[in-house]
Amino acid sequence: MTRKLYYENAYLKEADAIVLDIKNNELLLDQTIFYPTGGGQPHDKGWINGVEVLDVYKDEEGNVWHVVAEPEKFKTGDTVKLKIDWDYRYKIMRIHSAMHLMEHVLNDVLGKGTWELYGSGMSVEKGRYDIVYPENLNKFKEKMIELFNKYVDEGGEMKIWWEGETRYTQIRDFEIIPCGGTHVKDIKEIGHVRKLKRSSIGKGKQRLEIWLED
Ligand SMILES: [Zn+2]
Repeated sequence: MTRKLYYENAYLKEADAIVLDIKNNELLLDQTIFYPTGGGQPHDKGWINGVEVLDVYKDEEGNVWHVVAEPEKFKTGDTVKLKIDWDYRYKIMRIHSAMHLMEHVLNDVLGKGTWELYGSGMSVEKGRYDIVYPENLNKFKEKMIELFNKYVDEGGEMKIWWEGETRYTQIRDFEIIPCGGTHVKDIKEIGHVRKLKRSSIGKGKQRLEIWLED
């Protein structure tokens, strides 16, 4: 199985690896810093020996495959240089961590057990929470932003640990959330929420989208 360096240190921007196998335009490496699509988090962008990485995914065995633009430039046994697009990844780490913090803010403002998560998603631009809640969330917007930003200003460690095959995360003494994504070390790094938008997506469901400061 591919050694997942992004789990050992989410802040690794570069690393060396050995090409174990090549299948069409996909490379299998002994270890990688490239996060594969999963758990709602998009895959990393970057370069292997300067060749663009177009897609990264994890197969059923837990091996990570890297789809590259010019596979003819590689052969099995090569030692290669990996470099991820750090600006992109770090923004995703911040938005992903913001999603965890938002869960706590929703529990604080609305009350635990009063709302139900219907779906969520994230991109480099924003995070999205689709929830079921009886009242219009617009009237809680200000309070949510205020509380979110207060927590960010105070800071707090994002702890990560494994129990068997399951990986858990926890901000301060907040909710314990199983998650296989990449996160910041301290919630100070998330930065403030710049904008929070509520919209209706029908059948009593509401969408909350958050944008962070640059
Ligand atoms: Zn996460």
